[in-house]
Amino acid sequence: MKYLVFFIYLCLEKCIGDIIVGALFDKHRGKIDTHSIAALKYAVESINNETAENEPKLVYKIMNIEENNPFQAMKKTCELLEEGVIAIFGPQNLKNFEAIQSVCDAKEIPVIQTRWNAKSRRGSTVINNYPHPDVLSKAYLDFIKVWNWKRFIVLYDNDESLLRLKEILKLTLDRSYTIIIRRLDQYNTGIYRTILREIADSDLTNIFIDTRIDLLQELLQQSQQMGLMNKRYNYFINNLDTHILDFWNLKYSQTNITSIRIINNVRNSKEATEALCVKVEEDELYSECYLRTAYSLIIDGVMMIQKTIKDMKDVPNFGTKKLSCSSTDSWEYGLSFMNLMRTKSFEGMTGFNKFDNAGYRSAFLMEVVELQETGMIKVGTWTAGGGYNLARMGINTSTTDQGESLANMNFTVQITLTKPFGFLTESPNILVGNERYEGFAIDLIKALAEMEHFNYTFVLREDNDNGSKDSSGRWSGMLGELINKTTDLAITDLTINSQRAEAVDFTSPFMNLGIAILFQKPKEAEPNFFSFADPFAFDTWAGLFVTFLVVSFSMYFLGRLSPSEWTNPYPCIQEPEYLINQFTLANSFWFSTGCLMQQGSEIAPIATATRMIGTMWMFLILILVASYTANLAAFLATENPEKLFTDVTSLVENADSKNIRYGAKKNGATYNFFKHSKNPTYQKIFEHMRSHPEDMVKENSDGVKLAMETQYALFMENTGIDYEIQRHCNLVMYGDLLDNKGYGIAMRKHSPYRSRLSSAILKLQSTGLMDNLKRKWWQEKRGGGQCVAEDTQAATPLGMKNVEGVFVVTIEGLAIGLSIVLIEKYINISRMSKQSGISFWNMLKHEMKCYVDFENMSKPVLRGAEEENEEEYQEYSK
Ligand code: GLU
Repeated sequence: MKYLVFFIYLCLEKCIGDIIVGALFDKHRGKIDTHSIAALKYAVESINNETAENEPKLVYKIMNIEENNPFQAMKKTCELLEEGVIAIFGPQNLKNFEAIQSVCDAKEIPVIQTRWNAKSRRGSTVINNYPHPDVLSKAYLDFIKVWNWKRFIVLYDNDESLLRLKEILKLTLDRSYTIIIRRLDQYNTGIYRTILREIADSDLTNIFIDTRIDLLQELLQQSQQMGLMNKRYNYFINNLDTHILDFWNLKYSQTNITSIRIINNVRNSKEATEALCVKVEEDELYSECYLRTAYSLIIDGVMMIQKTIKDMKDVPNFGTKKLSCSSTDSWEYGLSFMNLMRTKSFEGMTGFNKFDNAGYRSAFLMEVVELQETGMIKVGTWTAGGGYNLARMGINTSTTDQGESLANMNFTVQITLTKPFGFLTESPNILVGNERYEGFAIDLIKALAEMEHFNYTFVLREDNDNGSKDSSGRWSGMLGELINKTTDLAITDLTINSQRAEAVDFTSPFMNLGIAILFQKPKEAEPNFFSFADPFAFDTWAGLFVTFLVVSFSMYFLGRLSPSEWTNPYPCIQEPEYLINQFTLANSFWFSTGCLMQQGSEIAPIATATRMIGTMWMFLILILVASYTANLAAFLATENPEKLFTDVTSLVENADSKNIRYGAKKNGATYNFFKHSKNPTYQKIFEHMRSHPEDMVKENSDGVKLAMETQYALFMENTGIDYEIQRHCNLVMYGDLLDNKGYGIAMRKHSPYRSRLSSAILKLQSTGLMDNLKRKWWQEKRGGGQCVAEDTQAATPLGMKNVEGVFVVTIEGLAIGLSIVLIEKYINISRMSKQSGISFWNMLKHEMKCYVDFENMSKPVLRGAEEENEEEYQEYSK
C-alpha cells in the first residue's frame, strides 16, 4: 500500500502533473512588480487555453524579492526549486539575478533573463532573450553613420550605459567626429538642467540619449523647458521602451526624435497590453497599461518553454524534479532542456525569436520610430545584416500630398536687402523684430502668414548671397543656411533653376522673369549731311525717280500719238500746211519737273490722255510732298538715337570695337544660366565673364551703378531692370528676354509645407494681390514712377510700303492715258480718212510714219478730193 501511494505520487508529479514555471521578481521601492507578474500570468493562461486536455498544463509560482537582496534571492530560489520548477524567470536587478543564477547553475535549472546584460556568458544556465548587447551597440553605431552625425552629445545615466555605447565611444578616436559625453544625474537629484543648459549654449544639435525609461520623460520635459525641443535638434533614444511614453507635449515641437523598439507592431499587442492593464487595476485602484520590452520578453520566454516541453515530452522518463538546496542533486534533464530551448525559433511578441550558435539572440528586427504629430510612428526597420531600411512606412503620404497645416508654426524666414524685395524700414523710431524690414518679400510673407496662420521671424542675410554650389558640392548663401537648418524659408529674388531644385524645395513661382540687358539709353546721333533725304527710304526715292522717267517719256510718246496735241502753229491760218506738237522730249521732262517742284510750267497738256497722265503725276507729287513734309517735321522733332547695339548678339559682336564692358552678378542665377547654356553666343558671354572677373559685380546694384556711369552692359533679370529703369532715367532695357523662369520661396528638401505655401501663392495670384504688391513696390514706393515713359518711337523713313498705293494709282493713270490715246487716234484716223478720201490704212501709215520721225515735231496735213488726195498721198509718201 505504501508503494502504491508512492507510485501515484510519482505519477502525479512526473507523468501527468502540471509543469511549474517559477519566477522571482524584485520589488521596486517596496512595490511588487505587478506588470511582470501580470505578463507571466497572461502568458501562462493564454498558453494553457491553447493546450489540449490531455497535455500537461503550465502553472506559475511567483515570488517577490527585495531589490538588491541576493541572500533573499537565493533563499527564494531554493524554495522554488523545492516546488519542482522547470525554469525560473529572473528579476531585473543584477545582484539578485546573479545569486539566483549561481543556485540554478548548480541545480541545472534554466534561468530566463529578460533584460540587457553585457555579462551573460555561454555555459551557464541563463537564457537571455534580450537582444544581444554587441548587436544593439552596432545598431546605435549604424544610426550615427546613417544620419551622418559628425558632432553630437551623448547623455547617459549609469555605468551600464557606457558598456552599451562601446561602439560609439570608439568613434572618439576618429578625428572627424566631435563627441561630447555627459553623465546625466550622478547624484539622482532628478535635475538635468545644468547639462541641458550646456547643450543650449553650444552649437551641438544632435543628442544621443541612453537612460532608463523612468528618467526619460522628465529629461525630455526639462529639455523642452531649456529650449532644446525645436526643429533644430535631433534626438536618438536607444531605450527600447519609448512607446510607453506620452509625447503629447512634444508632438508639435517639430523636434526630430527617433527611437527603436523590438516589440513588433505595438498596436497589435493590444490584447497583451490590456491584460497587463487589467491586472494592475485589480491591484492598485488605477490603471497603468503598458507593455514594456521586458514584459514581452517574459511572454516570449513562456512560449519558448512551452515549445520545448512539447519536444521533450517524447523523451523517456522526462519529468521535473523537486530539488533541495541542501543536497548536491541536480535536474538530470536540465542541460538538455536548456540546449533544446536555445534551438527554438518562433514568432513572438518581440518578433522572430531565434538564438545563434553561441546561444545569443543576435538576429532580430527592430522597428525605427519617429515622433510625429500622431505619436511615435514607425518609419523603418533595422536588422543586423541589412542595417537601417528607412522606407518611412509610417508617414501617411496622403497628408504629405495635401501639405501639412502651417497653423501656429514658427518659421525663420531669411531675407536679403535686394531691391525691392527687402529694405530697412525708414523710421525716426528705433524698430525691433520684423518691423525693421519692409519690401515686396516682407509683404508677401505677411500675406501668406495671414492666410495660413503661421508665425515668422525675419533673419537678414547681409551679404545678399542667394546661394550657389561650390566645387565641393557645398551650398553657400541662403540655400546653404536652409540646408544646414539654420532657417526654414528663404525669400528674395531667388531664381528657381534645376540645380537649386535638386538641393532645396521651391514653392510655385510667385513672379515670372527672364534675363535681359540693362544699358544706358542711346545718345543722340550727329546730324547727317543728307538728312533732307531721311523722310523717304531709298526705295521710295528710287520709285519716285523711276516714275518721273516713266511719266516724262509717257508725255513725250503719248503726246506725239495724241491727235489733239498736234496743233496749228499759226492760228490765223484756217487750214495750216502742217501741225506742230509741244511735247518734245525736253518739254516733257520740263513739264514733269515743273510738276515735281510744284512750280508748274508754260507747257499745258491739251489731249485727254496727256492731261490724264499729268493729273496722275501731280496727284502723286501732292501726296509725296505732303508725306515728305510731315515726316521731315517728325525727323527734325525727334532725336535720332545712336544704338551701340540692339540685342545680345550685336552686343557680343560690337563689345570690343565699341568699347563696351559687360557682366552679371557673380555666382547668381544669371551667371549660371550662361555657364550651363549650350548656345554658342551665350557660351561666348560665359567665356567673357570667366576671363573678365573685373566685369562681374557682387550685387546687381553695383552693376546698375556701373551701367549709369560707364559703358557697361549688365545682364540682369527683367524684374530688376523694370525696377531700375523706373528710377534711373538714363538706363533702358535692350533686347528680348533670353530665357523664362520664376522666383520661388525656398525651403528644405521634402518639406511638408511646400504644397500649402504653393497653393496659398496661387490664391494670392488669382485674387490680384500679387499684382498689387508688384505695383506698390515697383512703381509707387521708393522713387517709383520717376522716369515718365517717353515715347521713344523714333521717326522712321517712309518706305515704298507706306506709299505704294499712290504709285500704283499713277501707273494706272498712265495705262488709262494710253488707252484713251489709242481710241482717240483710231477715231481721228477714221475721221481724217473720210474727210480726205484717203483710205484708213494709208492714213494710218502716214500717221505712223510721222510718229516715228522723232526728229520732227511737225507733220503735214493731208486734205482734198478723194482721188486727188490719194495721188497727193502717193506723192507725199514717196
Ligand atoms: N536672382 C538671381 C539668383 O537667384 C540673382 C540675380 C542674378 O543672378 O541676376 O541668384
